[in-house]
Amino acid sequence: MSRRIIPVADISAMPDYSGPAHAPRGELTDTLARPLRDLRISVTDRCNFRCVYCMPRAVFDKDYPFLPHGALLTFEEIERLARVFVEHGVEKIRLTGGEPLLRKNLEFLIERLAVLKTADGRPLDLTLTTNGSLLARKARSLKDAGLTRVTVSLDALDDALFRRMNDADFAVDDVLKGIEAAHDVGLAPVKVNMVVKNGTNDTEIVPMARHFKGTGAVLRFIEYMDVGTSNGWNMTEVLPSADVIARIAAHFPLIPLEAHSAAETAQRWGYADGSGEVGVISSVTRAFCGSCTRARLSTEGKLYLCLFASSGHDLRALVRNGASDAEIATAVARIWHTRADRYSQLRGSAGATPNAAEERRVEMSYIGG
Ligand code: SAM
Ligand code: SF4
Ligand code: SF4
Repeated sequence: MSRRIIPVADISAMPDYSGPAHAPRGELTDTLARPLRDLRISVTDRCNFRCVYCMPRAVFDKDYPFLPHGALLTFEEIERLARVFVEHGVEKIRLTGGEPLLRKNLEFLIERLAVLKTADGRPLDLTLTTNGSLLARKARSLKDAGLTRVTVSLDALDDALFRRMNDADFAVDDVLKGIEAAHDVGLAPVKVNMVVKNGTNDTEIVPMARHFKGTGAVLRFIEYMDVGTSNGWNMTEVLPSADVIARIAAHFPLIPLEAHSAAETAQRWGYADGSGEVGVISSVTRAFCGSCTRARLSTEGKLYLCLFASSGHDLRALVRNGASDAEIATAVARIWHTRADRYSQLRGSAGATPNAAEERRVEMSYIGG
């Protein structure tokens, strides 16, 4: 029988806000001088796909104890927490999951978040990562609600392979229609993320590049990561990004592009004929912990400071126990000030054994990518 692989909410672990208050000033830094700039919010732990590398069917089966509705943060609670994070310096919010488009009335949440302004008065970059299966239907209402952009995950163009990888018999055409719809309503540029599993879908790298070249979509290849504990990750299944770029460049000459910002996770390459760009996210072979400005809020309101963390800070307990905005802001500041996470960097350094590697880690579908 499957078992929940995440730590159980524990009221005694309620974040501390005693002592001097820490009013938000739009700037928080952790122990490695990294500011807090991005917040990923998981709005559901459920998904209509069973991607083999994320929610393998053998684990996420009909007996899997998904969160009951009352455990989820409500839209009001999410908005309240998001506001505090934005006052502390967050400029970009990404909604994720599970599959975020499964959360009922998600547009209402987007409307609430879209009116938030960064500490220096600019609109937020408000985006969403989706498997695309419901996007053709929802693109217009998401755009109208105030979403800025969208990232669609797509691991293969070959329909049979795609169905095998999502393990829920979803057709690739539905996702392609979703990408087109997002583009048409102006949720652009649409980013398309492909996780490359060596020996499974690496044959799709060049067809994917060919398909999206010149369409305005930005295709990014992601190294298969050792997230969670249920996907049976093995280093031999990681295809280094350098190989991905070499394979594409053998067909379409590429030139390196500058990063948009220091915190950008993707390395960008432009097609030499000017027909767009591709990117690689080398989470395994080239750690970017030094510029990691991301916090993650789980579906049930726990704050995780790293994708590979084994426990989170229970912000829902704060909210549901009547803490004021000022107290929540103080707690968040305390938590971020103590952050020292740099899992990928430690995994990459010879001889080092990251602590988290020995612990049970949180699942990707629970805190989002
Ligand atoms: N369901 C949505 C989707 O698939 O886009 C959002 C949540 S999903 C967890 C977010 C991203 O994480 C997806 O792009 C997915 O491909 C990626 N992902 C999941 N497991 C991964 C792994 N083991 N290594 C690398 N990326 C992974
Ligand atoms: Fe679902 Fe996204 Fe995970 Fe696939 S990667 S199982 S679509 S949450
Ligand atoms: Fe950030 Fe953790 Fe990933 Fe490093 S391993 S980039 S700290 S999420």
